[in-house]
Amino acid sequence: MLLDGSALLIIILIAVNTMLIGLMVSRSFTKPIQELHKVTQELEKGNFKVRANIKTNDELAQLSDAFNKSALALSKMEEERLQLEKAKSEFLSITSHELRTPITPLKAQLQMLQQEYFGKLTEKQKESLEVILRNTERLNKIIEDFLEISRIEAARLKFTFRITNLEEIVNETVRFMDGFAKEKNIILVITASELPAIEVDPDRICQVLRNLVHNAIKFSPQDSLIEISTELKKDCVRFSVKDQGTGLSAEDQIRVFEPFFQVEGSLSRKYGGTGLGLTICRGIIEAQKGKIWVESMPGRGSTFYFTVPLAPVYEIEPIKVLFSTRTDIEKKLRDELINMLGPMGDVEFNELKNKHALNKEDLVKYATVLENQHILRHPNADELKRNIGMIFGEENRKEENEKTDEGIGGVKKVKE
Ligand code: ADP
Repeated sequence: MLLDGSALLIIILIAVNTMLIGLMVSRSFTKPIQELHKVTQELEKGNFKVRANIKTNDELAQLSDAFNKSALALSKMEEERLQLEKAKSEFLSITSHELRTPITPLKAQLQMLQQEYFGKLTEKQKESLEVILRNTERLNKIIEDFLEISRIEAARLKFTFRITNLEEIVNETVRFMDGFAKEKNIILVITASELPAIEVDPDRICQVLRNLVHNAIKFSPQDSLIEISTELKKDCVRFSVKDQGTGLSAEDQIRVFEPFFQVEGSLSRKYGGTGLGLTICRGIIEAQKGKIWVESMPGRGSTFYFTVPLAPVYEIEPIKVLFSTRTDIEKKLRDELINMLGPMGDVEFNELKNKHALNKEDLVKYATVLENQHILRHPNADELKRNIGMIFGEENRKEENEKTDEGIGGVKKVKE
């Protein structure tokens, strides 16, 4: 009995000891692994200064050393990237200024020639001069656009804020564009809700609105209708320009805000566009923390939307508009899928990319499939759809509904 008792005690002691040793060993593993996990997360957030500090004298310490070396290499690359970014902005700004300088006297001399200030011209010479002047104008427009883009990228875009009646802005734009619309017998209709006077730069809003209405007219058929609307939302005013024109494919809807993008075979060449207009609009709107996006169906017309916050943003930040939209969108979509589906999200993202299905419509359908196959529960699928919309610049639909529930009435006003 006694022997049995001591044997039992010894067994218990050994078991407790083993447990304690096991606990200590496992702690010596988990602590450094947790630390490594934490620093990797920091690195993912873009903090390249983070370093792991593991001194366990084993493979984990070696791993931490390798991590630190990679983080150091990444921080050097980031520094170089920032320097390159700065050099690019400066180059863009200097070259656009330098290119603009000779254009003014060039145009003046050409106009004097055209007005026969230096002697009579033959018909052929007049025709030739006309072509040269037209192209000088075009060159001037491209350079002006480049200057504007360089200002957006360097946060040097000027905003002069004034308490503004937005309805007047819309009326003014429509009056300004009416002549151009009449050339195609297009009717511009204003649907405006009651808006508070807010502090904005009226010229910048006019600039964006004019650009959108100009595009709408360009890509609309004869005798059609263009509707310009404003609507008060929770913390912003939403403008929209709806046309009955050519419309845009899902793929083109993403690319339309990229610089120099023009839809293949569109009427842009005929009207001499530069493909920079919407890029500039995006820069102006995003510099004010607003959003700009498009909803469209090929052959059924497009609606371009943009929002302007009710409270102005005085601190203008640089907006990367050159060659970044698509990569930005893809990065956000990948993160969103990983967030919803875990590591499988990355695999799914690559598959969708290969199938050219990284556009809003296909992604929303994909979210529905995930819900139907019970991979995502209904609220999660809904959230995914909402986030996809927001990545493509849409406003939060929930906010919109909340606003409707609050019952803000739309005072309709129609202009013939
Ligand atoms: P552009 O000076 O060429 O008009 P934008 O940046 O304003 O440059 O527009 C880029 C391209 O987007 C246009 O060339 C056209 O192909 C397409 N686009 C813009 N607005 C519309 C619209 N309302 N309907 C159809 N396509 C449009």
